[in-house]
Amino acid sequence: MIDTHCHLDSFVAAGIADEVVARARAAGVEKLLLAGTRAEDWPLYRQLAGRFAGTCFYAVGLHPEYCERDDWREQISQLPDFVAGATAIGEIGLDEHYMPKSAEQAAVLRSRQEQMFREQLAIAKTARLPVIIHAREAFDRAVAMIDESGVDWRKVVFHCFSETPEQVKILNARGGRASFTGTITYKNAQNVRDSALAQGLERLMLETDAPYLAPGKMRGKTCEPAFVVQTAAFVAELFGVPVEEIDARTTANACEFFGF
Ligand SMILES: [Zn+2]
Ligand SMILES: [Zn+2]
Repeated sequence: MIDTHCHLDSFVAAGIADEVVARARAAGVEKLLLAGTRAEDWPLYRQLAGRFAGTCFYAVGLHPEYCERDDWREQISQLPDFVAGATAIGEIGLDEHYMPKSAEQAAVLRSRQEQMFREQLAIAKTARLPVIIHAREAFDRAVAMIDESGVDWRKVVFHCFSETPEQVKILNARGGRASFTGTITYKNAQNVRDSALAQGLERLMLETDAPYLAPGKMRGKTCEPAFVVQTAAFVAELFGVPVEEIDARTTANACEFFGF
């Protein structure tokens, strides 16, 4: 199996990254894609990808939640140094969730997020790398900006998909796709389950987004890449197919999409 999106920086800080990677391998998770969020984690993830060659891979990107930082331009200017050796650009995108209440302040941050997103899409296009999109409460704008960017939609994945079947169809019609975290197991997430079914098995990819969003019974605990196995078991039941088929499909899809 492959965890196509996780963050290991907190495990590194706690001195347990090696254990976490070992537990993932023991659970049958052969590959982990470490998703970048800011300049501080890019060298960390590049280093882990070197140390766990063949198991850990990395993506570089400046997450929209860091739009308040004044050094965003400087961070993006460093990004090209990490592109050689990176598997993907991400996670990048738009996030409306934590916008300030003041309309004026929100407008400033919104336009900064768009600028960050636009510049990083241009880097992804030049590098011809897959792009991991983080779009929270900003789906339509994110789609429009990707359209404008000229990035190849076949290389676009909306991670931690939390929209509806209508939205997943918008991605699929362009050649893009959605990937799913442990949220698919949550009781109130029927829209996520319906979206996965609407997309089907051909493009299905799974991720943990560790250390967040632990699946099923593990909800509330620190999520680890090993837990993607539990999401796979849940998805197998959802699709009514053996878990081996979900393992094989999602692994093949991720290998094809990310070029592992
Ligand atoms: Zn995200
Ligand atoms: Zn993430």
